[in-house]
Amino acid sequence: MELKFYNSLTRQTEPFHSLKPDTVGMYTCGPTVYNFAHIGNFRAYIFEDFLRRTLEFAGYKVKQVMNLTDVDDKTIRGSQAAGVPLQDYTKPYIEAFFADLKALNIEPAEVYPAATQHIPEMKHLIEALFEKGIAYKSDDGSVYFSVERFPAYGRLAHLDRSALRSGVRISNDEYEKESFGDFALWKGWDEKDGDVVWDAPWGRGRPGWHLECSAMSMKYLGESFDLHTGGIDNLFPHHENEIAQAEAVTGKPFVHTWMHCAHLQVNGQKMSKSLGNFFTLRDLLGKGYTGREIRYVLLSGHYRQPLNFTFDALTAARSALARIDGCTDALRLRAKETGADDGVRVPSTLEAFGAALADDLNASEAFAALYAFVRSANAALTAGLSPAGAREALEVFAKMDRVLGFIDFGRSAEAEIPAEVQALADARAKARAEKNWAESDRLRDELARMGWQVRDSREGQTLRPVAQ
Ligand code: AMP
Ligand code: ZN
Repeated sequence: MELKFYNSLTRQTEPFHSLKPDTVGMYTCGPTVYNFAHIGNFRAYIFEDFLRRTLEFAGYKVKQVMNLTDVDDKTIRGSQAAGVPLQDYTKPYIEAFFADLKALNIEPAEVYPAATQHIPEMKHLIEALFEKGIAYKSDDGSVYFSVERFPAYGRLAHLDRSALRSGVRISNDEYEKESFGDFALWKGWDEKDGDVVWDAPWGRGRPGWHLECSAMSMKYLGESFDLHTGGIDNLFPHHENEIAQAEAVTGKPFVHTWMHCAHLQVNGQKMSKSLGNFFTLRDLLGKGYTGREIRYVLLSGHYRQPLNFTFDALTAARSALARIDGCTDALRLRAKETGADDGVRVPSTLEAFGAALADDLNASEAFAALYAFVRSANAALTAGLSPAGAREALEVFAKMDRVLGFIDFGRSAEAEIPAEVQALADARAKARAEKNWAESDRLRDELARMGWQVRDSREGQTLRPVAQ
C-alpha cells in the first residue's frame, strides 16, 4: 500500500516513505493547558489520529510524540489569577485533555512531554545557537534567533525573505531585535512572570514556545524524523521557527513531511478561544451528544478543507451511526446462529477504503467505501447471509474501524442492562409477539426516557444505551 500525502514543505502530494523501514516518527503540536481544549483543537488531534491510524493500517509502527505546553503567557497569567503554583494550575487541564482524548477514541501518543520537564534540552539548543553565532541577547535579557544568519529561513512558509528584514520593531512586549522576523528563544525574566523562572548562563528567564517543540521532538524522535503535524495556523511562524532552530543546530533536514489541517469553522470563521465562538467537548457531551458522534463529524471532511461546525451535522452523524449500528447488530445476531456456510460473502470494499486513505487521507471516499459495504451487508442479510458470511463481514468492519474508530460492534449493546430495563424490554417483546403495537410503542418510549434505545430486526430486538 503506497501512501501519498500533501507535504506543506514542497506544496506537493508525494509518495510517503519512512526514513527507517516500517516505523514512523511523528510529532504533533499539542495543547496549551491553560483551559479546556475546544473542538476546533480536536479537529487537529482527530486529523492526526486519522493519519496515525492510516499509517498503522498500512503496516507501519508509529512513534508519536505530542507536547503539552505547560508554561507560556496564558498558563502563567491563569495560575496567578487563581493564586496557585503553575503546575497546580495546569494539572486539571492536562487531566481533562486526556479524558477528552479518550471520549473521542483518539489513540494515545507514545510520549506526552511537558515543556517544564525539558528546560535543560531547550537550554542546550540555545547554547548551540550561541556557539554558531545565530542567537543573540537583547537589552531586555531575552535571547533571539537571527533569521538573517540562517539563510534557509522561510522555506516552509515560502516566504519572501526581504520582508523579514524590514527594520526593527519595538513594542511594549518586544524589545530591540536585529530583524523584524527574529523570534524569542528565551524570554528574560519579567516581574509579570513571578516565580516562573529558570537560571541560565545568559540570564534568568523562560523558554520561548517554538523552542520547546524543537527540543522535545528531537529528544524523542532524533534529529531527523518523518512527520510533523498541526493545524494550519501552526505553519507560520511556529513550524518555520522549529525548523530554523533545529536545522541551524544539527545541519540536517529536520522533518521530511509537514502536514497541516484546515480549521474547524463556525459561520465561516475559525473556531477559537479569542473569538468566543467555541464549544469544548464537555459542552457538547453536556448537551447529550456522544464522543462517537463528535468524532464522526470531525473526521467527515477532507483534512485540508475547512469544516463548518453545525448541530445539524451532529444530528446527521447520529442517524448515520444508527444505520451502521443497525447493520453490525444484525450481523452479530446472524453470526451467532447455526447454519451451513453456503460460501456467499458480502463483497468487501476494503480495497477502495485503503485506496481512499492512501490518497492523502481522502475521508469522504473512505466513508463512501464504508457505506457501500453497509448497503451490501444489509442486502446480503435480507437475502439470507450465512453465519460464516456474517462473521467475515464483521471482520471487514473491524478492519475499517482500526482507522475510523467509531464503529460500535455492540460494545454498548452488550453493556450491562439493568433488571428493570430488561423487564420492560421483555414486556415489549411480548407485546410485539401479541401484535399489541400501542403497548409496544409505549414501552419503547418509556425505555427511551430511561436512556435505552430498542432496535428491531428480523432476528429480534437489541438494546443500546443512548449515551454511547
Ligand atoms: P493551541 O492550543 O491554540 O496551540 O492549538 C492546538 C492545536 O489545535 C494546534 O495544532 C492548532 O493548530 C489547532 N487548532 C486551533 N484552532 C483550530 C481550529 N479552529 N480548527 C482546527 N485546528 C485548530
Ligand atoms: Zn509545536
